[in-house]
Amino acid sequence: MWSRAAPCIVCGANRPDMMLVQIIEVGSGPGWGHYACPEPCAQQYASRTYAPEWLRSDLRERGLWPVSS
Ligand SMILES: [Zn+2]
Repeated sequence: MWSRAAPCIVCGANRPDMMLVQIIEVGSGPGWGHYACPEPCAQQYASRTYAPEWLRSDLRERGLWPVSS
């Protein structure tokens, strides 16, 4: 699986409930993942144009998408 050692790519925090927000493909070898706090960082990330499609689905399963403001 993906390493969970990396801090949040948005705020730099390191929490036990980080969620995968981006998978980085590296050629033909194994890639790695970018993690972020479920809220608000992952929510902010999901609103970006380059966010992966599945991220919004993951957030929706957690009840964090769409963002209610
Ligand atoms: Zn964060």
